[in-house]
Amino acid sequence: MKVDFLIVGAGFAGCTLAERITAQFDKKVLLVETRDHIGGNTYDYYNEDGILIQKYGPHIFHTNLKDVWDYLCRFTEWNGYVHRVIAVVRGKEVYLPVNLDTMERLYDRKFTSEELEEYFEQHRVKLDKIRNSRDVVVSQVGEELYDLFFKNYTKKQWGVYPDELDPEVTKRLPVRFNRDTRYFTDAYQGIPKYGFTRMFRRMIDNKNIHLLLKTDYREIIDSVEYNKLIYTGPIDYYFDYMFGKLPYRSLDFKFETLDREQYQHAGVVNYPNDYDYTRITEFKHFYFQQHRKTTICYEYPMAEGDPYYPIPKPECREIYRKYRKEADKLRSVYFIGRLAQYKYLNMDQVVSGALKLFEGLI
Ligand SMILES: Cc1cc2nc3c(=O)[nH]c(=O)nc-3n(C[C@H](O)[C@H](O)[C@H](O)COP(=O)(O)OP(=O)(O)OC[C@H]3O[C@@H](n4cnc5c(N)ncnc54)[C@H](O)[C@@H]3O)c2cc1C
Repeated sequence: MKVDFLIVGAGFAGCTLAERITAQFDKKVLLVETRDHIGGNTYDYYNEDGILIQKYGPHIFHTNLKDVWDYLCRFTEWNGYVHRVIAVVRGKEVYLPVNLDTMERLYDRKFTSEELEEYFEQHRVKLDKIRNSRDVVVSQVGEELYDLFFKNYTKKQWGVYPDELDPEVTKRLPVRFNRDTRYFTDAYQGIPKYGFTRMFRRMIDNKNIHLLLKTDYREIIDSVEYNKLIYTGPIDYYFDYMFGKLPYRSLDFKFETLDREQYQHAGVVNYPNDYDYTRITEFKHFYFQQHRKTTICYEYPMAEGDPYYPIPKPECREIYRKYRKEADKLRSVYFIGRLAQYKYLNMDQVVSGALKLFEGLI
């Protein structure tokens, strides 16, 4: 087979580039994907009960990048979903990020914005230096909120307490002095009206894109002639783990379909202090789907398994830097996306990166 571009991975990065290349030029693309579906980690599908669910955990699109939003609007309408997250602490349901409503519910008293600022000023721990994630939190909101919302959640999520993690893990701690209960405040947000997968299908609906599912690119690379390779898989795998395996934190998703219309009061409910799972997602909130049943998903952080979160430690970044150096030596091979860049990236950052790479290619 002869193509202009071989693209590895059919997630946001791979599909954006495949779309751009074939929409703008008369070029042929072979898009190879190990899984049996497109969409990468944002893949959604109707389960056996006919409920639209996301296979790899809750994904909500949000961005302030107008060019990214305008670009995706070519392939989908959006359903207007606004994400809200509830945390269950001390047996109460409160909204995250912490805001006036959260504090009033938690402490059974009224706060004005000024009173809340004063409260944090009194309770925050004054530190000379921020050395870890715990310092970030206690220096802003104090010990009690740290214990309630962050300490145990972080332990579950990362397997270690916040004082063992880089400050960057919680570097931007959003605390609000108003009653905005939205989780994201970006200008544009929502879920594709008919789901992410339908959007991806439209993106790669071009006669010059040949899609090969259930195939590792290594199985076919020797039988394909191509000019350029765009690689969105794990960078360490590309280089045969020559500097060792890049560590990730993984997740196990347990799905349950219940014989009731609704299970919880928000799309995502966090359990910082109880149970082994971190959160429960109920997908019907995302899609506004009417159905007499509902599907929920428990999320269990794991040390081993599919790669989800790069470990935010200097020694891991150091390994990545070595791979990056190798990657930079290659001509006509481009590394992009969360696995190739070993970086937690939101969807909009991935699309933005892919659009920029495309500009560079042309
Ligand atoms: C639990 C969780 C929740 C998230 N929630 C949000 C959210 O709410 N909002 C948000 O903006 N972002 C969210 N993200 C981030 C989002 O998932 C990523 O930004 C996005 O999926 C990255 O797209 P990608 O194309 O880089 O990678 P991926 O979606 O992972 O796509 C890469 C593809 O390459 C394929 N591949 C890998 N190796 C090979 C190979 N050897 N051969 C062939 N194919 C291969 C993989 O199977 C995969 O399909 C979340 C991430 C996680 C882990």
